[in-house]
Amino acid sequence: MEFDKEKLDCLNAIHVRVGVLSNIEPRLLHNAYSAFHLSNPSYSCVDLHIESLGIKIECEHCGHITDVENYRFLCEKCNIPSKNIIQGEEMLIHKVEFKD
Ligand SMILES: [Zn+2]
Repeated sequence: MEFDKEKLDCLNAIHVRVGVLSNIEPRLLHNAYSAFHLSNPSYSCVDLHIESLGIKIECEHCGHITDVENYRFLCEKCNIPSKNIIQGEEMLIHKVEFKD
Protein backbone atom coordinates (compact mmCIF):
# COMPACT_ATOMS: atom_id res chain seq x y z
CA MET A 1 0.00 0.00 0.00
CA GLU A 2 1.36 3.40 -0.92
CA PHE A 3 0.35 6.85 0.11
CA ASP A 4 1.63 10.10 -1.21
CA LYS A 5 3.76 12.07 1.22
CA GLU A 6 1.18 14.73 1.99
CA LYS A 7 -1.48 12.24 2.98
CA LEU A 8 1.02 10.25 4.96
CA ASP A 9 1.73 13.19 7.24
CA CYS A 10 -1.82 13.19 8.48
CA LEU A 11 -2.21 9.43 8.65
CA ASN A 12 -3.33 8.49 12.14
CA ALA A 13 -4.15 4.81 12.30
CA ILE A 14 -4.47 1.71 10.18
CA HIS A 15 -7.02 -0.96 11.05
CA VAL A 16 -6.30 -4.42 9.76
CA ARG A 17 -8.47 -7.51 9.94
CA VAL A 18 -6.69 -10.82 9.94
CA GLY A 19 -8.50 -14.13 9.60
CA VAL A 20 -7.35 -16.93 11.87
CA LEU A 21 -6.79 -19.14 8.80
CA SER A 22 -4.62 -16.59 7.02
CA ASN A 23 -1.44 -17.90 8.68
CA ILE A 24 -0.60 -14.40 9.76
CA GLU A 25 0.14 -13.99 13.42
CA PRO A 26 -0.89 -10.57 14.74
CA ARG A 27 2.24 -10.57 16.93
CA LEU A 28 4.48 -11.02 13.89
CA LEU A 29 2.61 -8.31 12.05
CA HIS A 30 3.24 -5.95 14.97
CA ASN A 31 6.92 -6.89 14.97
CA ALA A 32 7.22 -6.26 11.25
CA TYR A 33 5.47 -2.95 11.72
CA SER A 34 7.86 -1.89 14.52
CA ALA A 35 10.84 -2.75 12.35
CA PHE A 36 9.31 -0.73 9.55
CA HIS A 37 9.00 2.28 11.91
CA LEU A 38 12.71 2.21 12.65
CA SER A 39 13.61 2.66 9.00
CA ASN A 40 10.68 4.97 8.23
CA PRO A 41 10.39 7.43 11.14
CA SER A 42 7.68 9.44 9.37
CA TYR A 43 5.28 6.57 9.99
CA SER A 44 6.03 6.35 13.69
CA CYS A 45 2.93 8.20 14.84
CA VAL A 46 0.65 5.80 12.95
CA ASP A 47 -1.14 3.26 15.11
CA LEU A 48 -1.65 -0.25 13.87
CA HIS A 49 -4.83 -1.94 15.08
CA ILE A 50 -5.21 -5.61 14.39
CA GLU A 51 -8.52 -7.35 14.71
CA SER A 52 -8.64 -11.11 14.58
CA LEU A 53 -11.48 -12.65 12.57
CA GLY A 54 -12.94 -16.04 13.40
CA ILE A 55 -13.92 -18.66 10.86
CA LYS A 56 -17.39 -18.67 9.32
CA ILE A 57 -18.78 -21.25 6.95
CA GLU A 58 -21.89 -21.12 4.82
CA CYS A 59 -23.68 -24.43 4.49
CA GLU A 60 -24.14 -25.56 0.87
CA HIS A 61 -27.18 -27.48 2.02
CA CYS A 62 -29.31 -25.00 3.93
CA GLY A 63 -27.41 -21.74 3.47
CA HIS A 64 -26.99 -21.27 7.21
CA ILE A 65 -23.88 -19.40 8.34
CA THR A 66 -22.04 -21.01 11.25
CA ASP A 67 -19.24 -19.63 13.42
CA VAL A 68 -16.64 -22.37 13.41
CA GLU A 69 -15.24 -23.27 16.80
CA ASN A 70 -12.35 -25.65 17.44
CA TYR A 71 -12.01 -26.19 13.70
CA ARG A 72 -15.30 -28.11 13.54
CA PHE A 73 -16.46 -27.40 10.01
CA LEU A 74 -20.03 -28.51 10.56
CA CYS A 75 -23.26 -26.66 9.88
CA GLU A 76 -24.85 -26.07 13.27
CA LYS A 77 -28.31 -26.47 11.77
CA CYS A 78 -28.10 -29.67 9.76
CA ASN A 79 -24.76 -31.07 11.01
CA ILE A 80 -23.42 -31.50 7.49
CA PRO A 81 -19.70 -30.83 7.05
CA SER A 82 -18.91 -27.77 4.96
CA LYS A 83 -15.73 -26.36 3.50
CA ASN A 84 -17.44 -23.29 2.16
CA ILE A 85 -15.42 -20.81 4.19
CA ILE A 86 -16.75 -17.27 3.90
CA GLN A 87 -14.59 -15.66 6.57
CA GLY A 88 -11.29 -16.42 8.24
CA GLU A 89 -8.78 -16.59 5.38
CA GLU A 90 -8.49 -12.93 4.62
CA MET A 91 -6.15 -10.20 5.57
CA LEU A 92 -7.50 -6.81 4.75
CA ILE A 93 -7.12 -3.19 5.62
CA HIS A 94 -10.62 -2.19 6.55
CA LYS A 95 -10.08 1.34 7.81
CA VAL A 96 -7.47 4.04 7.51
CA GLU A 97 -7.79 7.09 9.78
CA PHE A 98 -6.46 10.50 8.97
CA LYS A 99 -5.96 13.41 11.30
CA ASP A 100 -8.23 16.37 10.69
ZN1 LIG B 1 -26.86 -26.62 6.94
